[in-house]
Amino acid sequence: MNDIKTIAEKDRATVLHPFTQLKDFATGKIGDPTIVTGGKGIRIQDAQGRSYIDGFAGLYCVNIGYGRTEVAEAIARQAYKLAYYHTYAAHTTNELANLSDRLVRMAPGKPSKVFYGLSGSDANETQAKLVWYYNNLRGRPKKKKIISRERGYHGCSVVSGSMTGMSFYHDHMDLPFPGILHTGAPHHYWGAEPGETEEAFSRRRAAELEEMIVREGAETIGAFIAEPVLGTGGITPPPDGYWREIQTVLRRYDVLLIADEVICGFGRTGADFGSTLYGMEPDLVTVAKGLTSGYMPLSAAIVGERVYAVMEEAADRIGAFSHGYTYSGHPIAAAAANAVLDIVEKERLGDRARTVGAHFFKRLKERFAQLEIVGEVRGVGLLGAVEFVSDRQTKRRFDPQLKVGARISKAARDRGLIARAMPHGDILGFAPPLVVSEHEIDEIVELAYRATKQVMDELT
Ligand code: PLP
Repeated sequence: MNDIKTIAEKDRATVLHPFTQLKDFATGKIGDPTIVTGGKGIRIQDAQGRSYIDGFAGLYCVNIGYGRTEVAEAIARQAYKLAYYHTYAAHTTNELANLSDRLVRMAPGKPSKVFYGLSGSDANETQAKLVWYYNNLRGRPKKKKIISRERGYHGCSVVSGSMTGMSFYHDHMDLPFPGILHTGAPHHYWGAEPGETEEAFSRRRAAELEEMIVREGAETIGAFIAEPVLGTGGITPPPDGYWREIQTVLRRYDVLLIADEVICGFGRTGADFGSTLYGMEPDLVTVAKGLTSGYMPLSAAIVGERVYAVMEEAADRIGAFSHGYTYSGHPIAAAAANAVLDIVEKERLGDRARTVGAHFFKRLKERFAQLEIVGEVRGVGLLGAVEFVSDRQTKRRFDPQLKVGARISKAARDRGLIARAMPHGDILGFAPPLVVSEHEIDEIVELAYRATKQVMDELT
């Protein structure tokens, strides 16, 4: 067994960590890595024996909570029986066929088939290829551009990273890739004119989208991709009327809608899917995270009837569907997903997210809304955020050098709460496991409040 110090040294010497300041890590300025050793319910433990409430469910994924032995057993059973086989050339497993049947029954829109990957990023990469394929097959080879939104997050690979609408994910990486455009964020707090209602703001955003489509030429626009609730870009539910207005424009110009349900799917918003909650009728749906609650890597691009029909119809002419990964539909991941979805259904975690989420927002508003550095408290279901500003009246942001969001997140962590400093602005984000109790919510809100007060004191 390695001791803690040896593990930390090995890690520092060899692991290239995502989203980490490399020099500060290499020189030890930001301390040793946190060695996570275990988890139970909404809590994780580190090697030093410290326990944290995970108010972000890993990266918004561990919806069923940590340490669910039912899932571990399902994984082990499948590993003993058959650890791997591929799904090329019409091979399958029981677990995969059952999972796909289940997803097609429950997904929003008019789902027809499920294509599997391992991450949200690769599933969105697949969605882009499906849009291009679909339009090539129907004889519209120019209809290829994909519109996403500023502040949208769709992953980090070449095309999904380009769809992501935050420049710091592009800088120095030669992104965005040509043919991916960004329209305005559905962020009423930051985007609305003084006095503009949510409905009016939604109409304006839809009009801007329409202008973009017309300017580029509708014959060149293949799809619009969006998260039902903006996630990493600030955890922002759509303003009233947004999805109605946007879908009217998409239908007018024959533009496919890709719903990125990677965060919203499987109960997070209090409904099965964000699309259901907001009346979206997507042609393509991306799921990951909650699909396995992070117990195994698995994602899916769920293909609607409209797109699939064209693909099947062209098959005699063009041959096999030439896209797939060694691990598409991995049987252990499929077994994990089935066991997770059993829990989601049995424990009605979507309903829980709605009721416990209502309690969460009541408590968040009680504690935070009056604080002089709080600009907005927002969210839906068990997905929430508090945004900090230096002046509530003028909505002036803090000097980024002050790192207010990161400091509040760090102060919360020092108190045993993980709440994420969101990357775009001074925002503390919450996405606890959906099994969180009202009592635990009170604890989360209280710890976050005390952390915020600490940083407010430091700022004065
Ligand atoms: N789409 C959304 C909405 C996400 O939030 C994320 C990750 O946070 C992704 C896609 C990318 O998923 P992954 O990190 O599994 O590639």
